[in-house]
Amino acid sequence: MFTLDNSYVRELEGMYVFARAERKLAPTLVKLNVSLAEELGLEPDEATSPDWVQYFSGNALVPGSQPIAQAYAGHQFGNFVPQLGDGRALLLGEVIDRAGCRRDIQLKGSGRTAFSRSGDGKAALGPMLREYLMGDAMHHLGIATTRGLAVVATGEPVYRETILPGAVLTRVSASHIRIGTFEYLAARNDIDSLMRLADYTMDRHYPELDEGRYIELLRAYSMRMAGLIANWMGVGFIHGVMNTDNMALSGETIDYGPCAFMEHYDPETVFSSIDRRGRYCYGNQPAIAQWNLARFAETLLPLLAEDEETAVGLATQQVEDFQVHYRRAWLAVMRRKMGLKREEEGDAALAEGFLDAMFAGEADFTLAWRALADAAEGIPNRGLFAANPEKFDAWLPLWKARLSREERPGERIAADLRLANPYLIPRNHLVEEALEAASRNGNLQPFDRLLEALSTPYEEKDDSLRFSRPAPREQTARYKTFCGT
Ligand code: AMP
Ligand code: MG
Repeated sequence: MFTLDNSYVRELEGMYVFARAERKLAPTLVKLNVSLAEELGLEPDEATSPDWVQYFSGNALVPGSQPIAQAYAGHQFGNFVPQLGDGRALLLGEVIDRAGCRRDIQLKGSGRTAFSRSGDGKAALGPMLREYLMGDAMHHLGIATTRGLAVVATGEPVYRETILPGAVLTRVSASHIRIGTFEYLAARNDIDSLMRLADYTMDRHYPELDEGRYIELLRAYSMRMAGLIANWMGVGFIHGVMNTDNMALSGETIDYGPCAFMEHYDPETVFSSIDRRGRYCYGNQPAIAQWNLARFAETLLPLLAEDEETAVGLATQQVEDFQVHYRRAWLAVMRRKMGLKREEEGDAALAEGFLDAMFAGEADFTLAWRALADAAEGIPNRGLFAANPEKFDAWLPLWKARLSREERPGERIAADLRLANPYLIPRNHLVEEALEAASRNGNLQPFDRLLEALSTPYEEKDDSLRFSRPAPREQTARYKTFCGT
């Protein structure tokens, strides 16, 4: 059992409205994240009890809960929207987990709020299971992320292009403070509230910083975001909607909508049906993160200095430095993925050379990286670069020469490579199959099997081969993801 606290409600008045979930007639538990429940101090027996199904559906309130819809604004595909907010989500409160961390408990799909605009406040089962699966996969890949605690089916229809089964996801996050939360206040010129929010954010996510040093908040977030994006790039993750309202100040990956993992390496890869110009394609993610950081920096200007010119100077420097932080974080990821522990001048070029070879060879991003472990043991997989293996042929001896300067035995390097390069990522066709089975027939078996396989992404098990294969190229070329709203 846990009791919720409500520090957001207490300290950030004016940044939310109180709200209630819409009543669900016959909610049933579809998915419970047992290990996450335990992290939060909730016993599995308890979490599957009828009481908790009522809590997870929003029909009853977890003790201590003061549910709110959070206000935020955001730049969506580059355009500023001064008011978005939780249109179908409710922050129930915060739990202090077993490790002593404060974490938000939020319902998604719980019904209309003051911020719903023309939306119905609902969510469909497929997209909620998708968020659950993607978050879990990212967690096991070692990437900071929000996570699904439970999914309940509401038993009610949700009207989209077709009629879909409705669901509510319970989401656990370090917090739900977004760049858009700051933008909401900045747009209203509410400096007092901005300061309260900045203080709260620093307290909650950057306690090491000195109080009132808002420039340090900008720097710290910049570094955290640089690390996050570098990690995304390392596994081929494409978020799909990097709007400023989907960027969390905690540095966690948040709001899994049309996200997907890249298959063959191509920096222009984009799957989201609404991203027609490829603004959020794989290769643009670092630049977009910096653009988003600039929007965040703008909101902080009144807090940085008395006169605007000084403030702009300070902020600009931090935004420019993002590139330095990102480059450093990316290089650290790449070194690890190449099996390098020492640092040499040419390492970035070596990584880029490998990516070029992948591009020319139309290699599967995940498998090509994974195959480096075998290559370190003398069995390179040239077949992965079949479309044009010449660049790979030229690159391999350069990398081998570089490895020889590592002064670690080949088996050691291979073992390290197998810990750095996942064997499994959520393959798009398997995710779709699993969601289709769950949503159309209520058959959760494919979903559970996929989830189970993705819980140990760095291990090659006897039965995991089929989860590792990419979809046929034609299928990937046609693959489109939807926001699921
Ligand atoms: P998203 O694309 O999920 O990041 O959502 C963007 C904005 O639209 C947020 O303010 C959401 O709360 C809102 N929204 C998304 N779907 C719905 C829905 N079905 N009903 C009401 N609001 C929604
Ligand atoms: Mg969002």
